[in-house]
Amino acid sequence: MVFKRFEFVSLCILGFVLSCQVTSHNVKPYISDKTSATLPTSIKPNKYVEFQVVKVADWEASLDGLLDLDDPKAKAVGLKDRAEPISIYFYLVKHPKFGTYMIDSGMGKNFPKGEDGKSLVSSIVESQMHFDKLKVYESTKTYLQNNQIDIKGIFFTHLHLDHTLGAYEIDRAVPFYVGPGEVTDKQFINLFVQGSTDRLLGKNPNLVQFGFGKNTKEISVFDFFGDQSFFVISVPGHTPGSLAFYIPAKGGAHLVLGDTCHTQWGWKEGVIPGKFTSDPKLNRKSLDFLKEVAETHEIQFVYPGHQDRISTPLKK
Ligand SMILES: [Zn+2]
Repeated sequence: MVFKRFEFVSLCILGFVLSCQVTSHNVKPYISDKTSATLPTSIKPNKYVEFQVVKVADWEASLDGLLDLDDPKAKAVGLKDRAEPISIYFYLVKHPKFGTYMIDSGMGKNFPKGEDGKSLVSSIVESQMHFDKLKVYESTKTYLQNNQIDIKGIFFTHLHLDHTLGAYEIDRAVPFYVGPGEVTDKQFINLFVQGSTDRLLGKNPNLVQFGFGKNTKEISVFDFFGDQSFFVISVPGHTPGSLAFYIPAKGGAHLVLGDTCHTQWGWKEGVIPGKFTSDPKLNRKSLDFLKEVAETHEIQFVYPGHQDRISTPLKK
């Protein structure tokens, strides 16, 4: 018994020692005290941003990663693990004064090969990612060039690999904004993905980590441009610094969930992700917060992390 306890303690120590950041690249802080715990109930921006979603690829992932299959709602309808169709997206946010920003980074031209022809992801990561099922429609750099878009910054919903696949093609001066603790929190799993994340973000990325208040585990809302046209919402749980976005529009707002909820079914039923989430309790809190936002605001479309947007009936 004593020996077992010793083994357990040793494993905990080993896990702690081996824990590392999701990327070893340098990160700069972006501190703001102008955050709030909730989204304002009445939002009336003078100017609206233009918002657009671009589908980059279709893929598949295991359902037990995308959904908590132990949730009573999943059990009630007999959901079992299987391959689930997913898509990869990026989003464009065009501000009339401050220019065009992206949410997530799409996919590089010859992914998974980098500019030097070598694979950007490690063989252990590649073995888990089912690249044979990947159907790519758009590559980030080509899309931006063809549409003459000069990107001012990228907001990452989080730094899981499927959201960083186009980052290495972006100009090095462009800020890559991530949520509180997304880079600086250490986790054991990062031991296996850090090298791949480093290569996907490219050499010397301009990484900027939001710092909202003292406690990174609290949900917080940040009016990024200061004119109520674009709200960054810190929703920890899926990863330490997961972000969601509330984007006002004339016919009702857009609510981008990131991977706080991957699927349409998960959003409709309020079921959190499964194995892909690092802190299920916090993810639950964050998903409940976004549900509350959807209930108390006029929303036109909700965007789950990996499936098509859901049109929401307006309340008025
Ligand atoms: Zn994802």
